[in-house]
Amino acid sequence: MSWSGTVYCRYCGDKGHNSRTCPQKTAHYKQRAEAEVENGEGREGYWHRMYAQRTGMWLDGDAAPEMKKRRAGGTRRCKYCNKTGHNTRTCAELAQAKEQYLTDARRVREFVLREVRAMGAGIGSLFQQDEYGNAVAFMVQGHVWENVTHETFASGRTNFFSLKRLTGATTASRWERERNVNFPQIDPESLPEGITQTNYSHGLQMVGPVSGGVNPPDGWLELEDIDIKEVFKDRQSPNHYDNQWED
Ligand SMILES: [Zn+2]
Ligand SMILES: [Zn+2]
Repeated sequence: MSWSGTVYCRYCGDKGHNSRTCPQKTAHYKQRAEAEVENGEGREGYWHRMYAQRTGMWLDGDAAPEMKKRRAGGTRRCKYCNKTGHNTRTCAELAQAKEQYLTDARRVREFVLREVRAMGAGIGSLFQQDEYGNAVAFMVQGHVWENVTHETFASGRTNFFSLKRLTGATTASRWERERNVNFPQIDPESLPEGITQTNYSHGLQMVGPVSGGVNPPDGWLELEDIDIKEVFKDRQSPNHYDNQWED
């Protein structure tokens, strides 16, 4: 509503009605619903359901009180799964998802620690990379332990090794002197159950392993740095969208 009291429709911009009663919006829903029916989707189609919610009728003219009720009822839905009758504090699916997250994160961390030790990729170890035919050496100056989860591992965003360039360091540009690289490609067969890794190769080879220098912070294996509530703060169930039709 504008200052003068005139109602303008947010959907079509016309005066005198709002988007809830906009005839143009209803017509658009109808068109899309009709297209779905032509595709054989019946009353399952998204737009057909939207149309029924809006008008209280299916396209064939049958009343759709069950759709209207949901709209008007304002039933509270769980923010995570979008079902009714509970909230995020009591959502079984959310509890299960958190549990799975922690299990997978723990698995990948145990695995990473084992691998780094087996590689001898502790602080002071040397990686080598081919750069236009020249071998360039990098020293491991640190590990970004907190970056390691099954999710960063799966998407190739661990940026786990903090490297310092040794070869040609004086002539290299500032951003070439230090860099963080992801965990090297692991044979998928040797990954723990449920863990995936993006197929990714930075061509770095361990050429100077060391025997120590691989010490994650206290509590790292126990995931003490992960605030699971925070992780799931804005997450929604993969079924959130479909669950809008469920109770
Ligand atoms: Zn309108
Ligand atoms: Zn829920």
